[in-house]
Amino acid sequence: MAKYIFVTGGVVSSLGKGITASSIGLLLKSRGFRVSLQKFDPYINVDPGTMNPYQHGEVFVTQDGAETDLDLGHYERFIDENLSRHNNHTTGQIYESVLEKERKGLFLGGTVQVVPHITNEIKQRITKLASKESLDVVICEIGGTVGDIEGQPFLEAIRQLRLDLGPGNVLYVHVTLVPYIATSGEFKTKPTQHSVRELRAAGIQPDIIIARSTERMPRAAREKISLFCSVEKEAVIDAPDVESIYEIPLIFHEQELDRLVIAKLGLAENPAELSAWRDYVERERNRRESIRIALVGKYTGLKDAYKSVIEALNHAAVAEGMRLDLVWVESSDYDEDKFEGFKDIDGILVPGGFGIRGIEGKIRVVRYARENRIPYLGLCVGLQVAVIEFARNVCGLEDANSTEFNKKTPHPVIDLMPEQKNIYRKGGTMRLGSYPCILKPETRTREYYGKEVVFERHRHRYEVNPAYLERLQDAGLVISGSSPDGLLAEIVELPDHPFFVASQFHPEFLSRPLRPHPLFANFISKAHEYAARSGLADSPSK
Ligand code: GLN
Repeated sequence: MAKYIFVTGGVVSSLGKGITASSIGLLLKSRGFRVSLQKFDPYINVDPGTMNPYQHGEVFVTQDGAETDLDLGHYERFIDENLSRHNNHTTGQIYESVLEKERKGLFLGGTVQVVPHITNEIKQRITKLASKESLDVVICEIGGTVGDIEGQPFLEAIRQLRLDLGPGNVLYVHVTLVPYIATSGEFKTKPTQHSVRELRAAGIQPDIIIARSTERMPRAAREKISLFCSVEKEAVIDAPDVESIYEIPLIFHEQELDRLVIAKLGLAENPAELSAWRDYVERERNRRESIRIALVGKYTGLKDAYKSVIEALNHAAVAEGMRLDLVWVESSDYDEDKFEGFKDIDGILVPGGFGIRGIEGKIRVVRYARENRIPYLGLCVGLQVAVIEFARNVCGLEDANSTEFNKKTPHPVIDLMPEQKNIYRKGGTMRLGSYPCILKPETRTREYYGKEVVFERHRHRYEVNPAYLERLQDAGLVISGSSPDGLLAEIVELPDHPFFVASQFHPEFLSRPLRPHPLFANFISKAHEYAARSGLADSPSK
C-alpha cells in the first residue's frame, strides 16, 4: 500500500509549497522509491486553461493533453517523470463529476452534500493515483492557504484519510512563513503558531513544519516553533531564500528531512543518491560569463507566465556554463521600428501567446533577427509570427497573416484546421498534449535531436496553412519536422542563418535540469557563439 504525504501552506501564498513538495519527491526518488506528486487546486474553474496568465501564470500541458497548474512543471522537472491529468484536480472538476453522478441518479435519492460526497470524491482521486501506478509514496499538495473557505473540503478529506489509511501511512507537512524583522533582528514565529492553530481547528496536527524565511533561522526560533506547535525539534525544517530552486532538496537533505520522512512512514532506509543533482547545482553556482537573451512577450516581468520557458533556458545555460541574463521585451513596444535595445542581445526568443496584442511587434522582431542573423527560437506563436514574416517579406505575400489576427487577410498562411472550425466552447478544445513529429533528414533540427521521430507537447488552435507549404518552401523556408501525414508543419528552420528555428509545439515542457532540451541547448550554444563573435560576451558577472 502507498504512503501519503500531504503538503499544506500557511500564513501567505507563494511560499514555494510546490517546490517543497517537489523537493521531498526528489529526495524520496533518490532513495529508490516510486513517487508521484499531485496538486489539488481549490478554485472553481475546471482547469487553468481559460485563466489569464496574470492570475494564474503559465498553463503547464501534460503529455496526455491536460492543461494544469504550473506546479506540475516543477514536479516533472524535479522527479523527472511525465505526469498526467490524474495529477491535478480542481474544485471545478470535483463538482463536475459529483453533479454528473447526481444527474445519473447514482446517489439513490440521497441529499448530496460537501461531507461526504465532495470529500469522498476528493479522497477517491487522491488514492486512485497510487493504485493505478503502483507507487510507494504519493505527495499531495493542497493549493491555497489554510483558512481559505475554498480549501476546507480538501482539509476535511485529508483529515479523514489518516483515519481511513492508518496513522503510519499518512504524514502532514505544513509550509509557513517566518518573517524576519530586520530592525530588531528577530524571526517572528507567531504567524506560524496561528496557522498551525487554524490547521488544528480542521483536525490536522502537522508532523513536519517547513519554515520559510529570508535567512537561515537560529536554533532558538526553531525550538520555539517546536514547542508552540507541538512538532519535534528535528521536524522544524529551515527553508531560507536561495538563489536557485534546485538547491532546496540539498538544503532539506542536509537537515535530514528525507530520513525523518522515511522513519515516520516506516519506509526502508535506502541510501540517497544525489550526486548528479549536486553536480548540477555546483555547475549552476559556478557560472561566470553571461548570455543575454531577449524574451519577447506580452507579460513582461511576469516570470510565472513563462515559467517553463525560463527554466528550459536556464537548464541549457547551465549546460553551456553560462549565466542567463534575461531581457524582457514588451512586444507591443515594437510597433515602431526601434531596435536600439537589441544591440547587445545574443539571442531572441518569442514564446507562446494568444490574441492580437503585440503581434505586429513580434513580427518586426523576427524580421530583425532573420536579417541581422541573430539566433532566434520561436515557440508556438513564435513559429506563427516567423511564418507570417517570411511570407510577407521573403515570399512577397502582402498582408499575409493568421486568421486569428486578421480574419480577412488575403493570405491566411496560419489558419484554423477544419476540425477546429466548429468549436465554440473554450475550455480544453485546443490541439493539446503530445503528438509525434517526423524530422526531415539532413536538417539542423534532425541533427539537434539526433533521431527521426520525436514526441512534443502542443497547445494551440491554429496551424501553418497546408495550402501555403509549397510556396514557403520554394522561397527557402525548411519544414524540418511535420506530422506523420506530412500535412502539419511542426517545426521550421532557415538553413542560411546561424540559428533560426521555430516549433509549433512547446519544447519547454520537456526540459529537465539534467537533460536540457536539444532545441534550447543548441539555441543557447549558438547564442554563445554569436556573443563571442560580436565581442559582447565574456563580461564577468559581479
Ligand atoms: N494563438 C496561437 C494558436 O492558438 C498560438 C498559441 C500558443 O502560442 N500557445 O494557435
